[in-house]
Amino acid sequence: MTTIDRARHAVPYAPEDAARYRAAGMWGRRTIAQEFHAVAEQHPQRDAVVTAEGRLTYRELDVRSDQIAAGLAGLGLVAGDPVLFQITNRLESVLAWYGVLKAGLVPVCTLASHRAHEIGGISRRAQAVAHLVDAGTKFDLVGFAHDQARGHPSLRQVLVLGGEGSAEAPRIDDLGDGVDPALARETVERIQRDIDPDAIAVFQLSGGTTGVPKIIPRLHAEYWYNAVAYARAWGWDHTTRNAHLVPIIHNAGVVCGVHGPHSVGGALVLTNPDLTEALPLLAEEKVTDILLGHGHYRAVEEPAFATLASSLRTVVLSGAKVPPSLFQKLEDLGLWSGQLFGMGEGLFAVTRPGTPREARLSTVGTALSPLDEVRILEPGTERELPDGSVGELCCTGPYTLRGYFDAADHNATAFTADGLYRTGDLASITLIEGGRYLSIEGRIKDVINRGGEKINAEEVELLLLKHPAIAAAAVVAMPDGRLGERTCAYLVADGERMTLDDVRQHLIRLGVAKFKWPERLEWLDELPTTLVGKINKKQLRSDVAAKLHAEHHEEAG
Ligand code: AMP
Repeated sequence: MTTIDRARHAVPYAPEDAARYRAAGMWGRRTIAQEFHAVAEQHPQRDAVVTAEGRLTYRELDVRSDQIAAGLAGLGLVAGDPVLFQITNRLESVLAWYGVLKAGLVPVCTLASHRAHEIGGISRRAQAVAHLVDAGTKFDLVGFAHDQARGHPSLRQVLVLGGEGSAEAPRIDDLGDGVDPALARETVERIQRDIDPDAIAVFQLSGGTTGVPKIIPRLHAEYWYNAVAYARAWGWDHTTRNAHLVPIIHNAGVVCGVHGPHSVGGALVLTNPDLTEALPLLAEEKVTDILLGHGHYRAVEEPAFATLASSLRTVVLSGAKVPPSLFQKLEDLGLWSGQLFGMGEGLFAVTRPGTPREARLSTVGTALSPLDEVRILEPGTERELPDGSVGELCCTGPYTLRGYFDAADHNATAFTADGLYRTGDLASITLIEGGRYLSIEGRIKDVINRGGEKINAEEVELLLLKHPAIAAAAVVAMPDGRLGERTCAYLVADGERMTLDDVRQHLIRLGVAKFKWPERLEWLDELPTTLVGKINKKQLRSDVAAKLHAEHHEEAG
């Protein structure tokens, strides 16, 4: 196998920026694995992770993940090798996370719901060497991983989480089982000693750029700092017991769910998204903090949610605009709630304690780090807009990417001339009680946010157009009470009009993840265009919203 120079495809931070972030005490000199080990040494007996299936103290998690790392090294995987993660929220997932990092390998944060279309592209671009799959999902991810490896230029090792392992696809949680802990520690220390804290630690996937999903390189020092700053913003310490229901492999999962509490010796109380199972565990475990994504706002309506009120200190709402009625409900339960804005590319904003109520209600607060730089620019230009005007949110700082991985063409337009990342989100700065707060006002990027999973409209349109009976396609968001948005496809037929099921079968054949499938079709003779000849998506969005509204009234009447 040829050696692959992955660093060549990453855009580094400018040395003067890295020096500034270090001088400010933000970036450390350790890898993530070394940071975790240092915390584990301080809090050996505390809970590190609690799930319905079991719990691990810091000592247990530290020792077992050392052994897993030794086992991974024994398989011939070497520092820098990317490992695709397709896992769910389990105790073993956290073991695997630290085991992989300790072996110097680089997790690639794909989703359990991704299929051949996504994994095929991402695994080639990241040059993934191993593929870790959850054996407990309805879809046979283990068989899928073997299929993916066939004829693949770099994939050569399947690893299984839970379920049955085999000689060619061992269970990651069994790896290194009998290895002497002292020996395993030595192995990890030897591997970690050679890793630069400014090297790539994790590959995240972008939720919202054009075309195929882009890969975000996250580096050891800046990614850990992101979590440290998040924990600090909420005043977390070793008494924090943070509930997490959203997939831990999402950026918010890694930063807020796993590294955040682990940066201060706190506990991660990890559940799957099923509220009937999750809420009793969270009550029993006396969680102090909880992050609710848009898909979980309804948790607050559950009678069992009130049982968390005696221990909960903070409810963080994230991912989409928060309805005022939700705040009211939380206040009625005596709960303090705030908002989080975050993206895999970096920038976070939070309404930290002390933020005025009005700002907590209507804004996402202030940027996480004092060295974050946020500007609102007139879309398509580099002209900064005054406070109060809505424009494109652009940013840079100590944990915001300097470039997507292996995407030079895209990087050329994704940043301003002075290096600010163009987020594609519309935002404004609102003045409240003398403070300047960031509010999110929509987006320019053509993305559908389905309960936190981002769907790239252009990607789905190109897939639809591969069907001979589809002459033109425009995919837009339609409003949805539970998920915020779902996908509606406006299509022009070439011949007979297909059914929704036909369209889905077509996407299944192309190996497209289910969450991207359109959930409604609208047929037109031609797609409406704007004055400059672009598809008028604004008109399509209003059209489907009006239709849904009318149908809802018809049903109610
Ligand atoms: P991801 O990288 O998948 O975490 O997605 C980041 C994107 O989610 C942002 O660029 C926004 O479009 C959206 N987003 C995240 N948090 C919020 C929020 N609090 N309000 C509105 N949109 C949000």
